[in-house]
Amino acid sequence: MDNVIDLRSDTVTRPTDAMRTAMARAEVGDDVFGDDPAVNALQERVAQLLGFRAALFVSSGTQSNLCALLSHCGRGEEYIAGSNAHLYSHEGGGAAALGGIQPQPLPHQEDGTLDLADIEAAVKPDDPHFARSRLLCLENTFSGTVIAPEYVQAATALARKHQLATHLDGARLFNAAVAGDGDPYEGARKIAEQFDSVSVCFSKGLGAPVGSVLLGSPEFIGEARRWRKALGGGMRQAGVLAAAASYALDHHVRRLADDHANAALFAEILDGVPGLEVGPARTNMVFARPVPGVTPPDLVERLAARGVLGTGGRPQIRFVFHLDVSRADAERAAHLVRETLAAAAA
Ligand SMILES: *Cc1c(COP(=O)(O)O)cnc(C)c1O
Repeated sequence: MDNVIDLRSDTVTRPTDAMRTAMARAEVGDDVFGDDPAVNALQERVAQLLGFRAALFVSSGTQSNLCALLSHCGRGEEYIAGSNAHLYSHEGGGAAALGGIQPQPLPHQEDGTLDLADIEAAVKPDDPHFARSRLLCLENTFSGTVIAPEYVQAATALARKHQLATHLDGARLFNAAVAGDGDPYEGARKIAEQFDSVSVCFSKGLGAPVGSVLLGSPEFIGEARRWRKALGGGMRQAGVLAAAASYALDHHVRRLADDHANAALFAEILDGVPGLEVGPARTNMVFARPVPGVTPPDLVERLAARGVLGTGGRPQIRFVFHLDVSRADAERAAHLVRETLAAAAA
């Protein structure tokens, strides 16, 4: 269908003409030999930007998190993460399947954080009955929510106190940074540098077609590079992809603020609409809960028929704003949601 407003995810963005030009012009080599200038430039740049000594370009956020888990933890060892953390709940159980790594999921609090007391209680004593606790994983943004800087500081300090390493799934790190005050690149570094390793996605709101970067110490990244190869992720002339990520870093970071503004506009237009409880925008996401008994359960399908794509519906529908959604689209999408609800109630 023409004119569809696709709010399923910020992964649906297509590379712009200017990004494609940058990709076409990339100077490339064989990255498995370490010869790809565009990949090397991206890795060096992201490492420096976010305050790390080494970086690795990988095919996806899932591969990035998996390389991190496999590098931090061995068989019979354990990582602590939120029960809705992407790396625990949405990555095919890769660390368990491929690494014999045991997850220790913890419930999230209202603000997306894990209770520090729960974390402390989940750290196992050194005893053959227990898996060895190795790693604490946090996610920021978490379902669009920016995790408070004071919390990140307290949680990473607690992890260090118990000799746990720390990993940040920063798939949307730059959304968190742009939501804060000041320079977003500096903001991203302040969040990232509190962790031993960080994963950042370029294929979400930053608009690149493929790719994530994993950051850490040179020793850690050396280990992650071995795992990337074992996972089939050693790419050859990957510079065409790295060039897209570099372009995104130059041109698509500050504009994330537009996505946040569009999400806020969408939520504002829908505020108080009968049949739908619409929460406030969280960075580039809006979550809406259809009112049972008032709104038919197939609202997502009804919206799709009118050209607005969201995901979920049981119980919440998620709408994500991104590079390929203009302010006018956000406005039109909100009005189409209103019309759909009115038609369903009639
Ligand atoms: C999308 C996402 C990932 C994984 O990214 P893929 O590139 O889809 O594998 C990891 N963590 C979070 C929080 C994400 O939103």
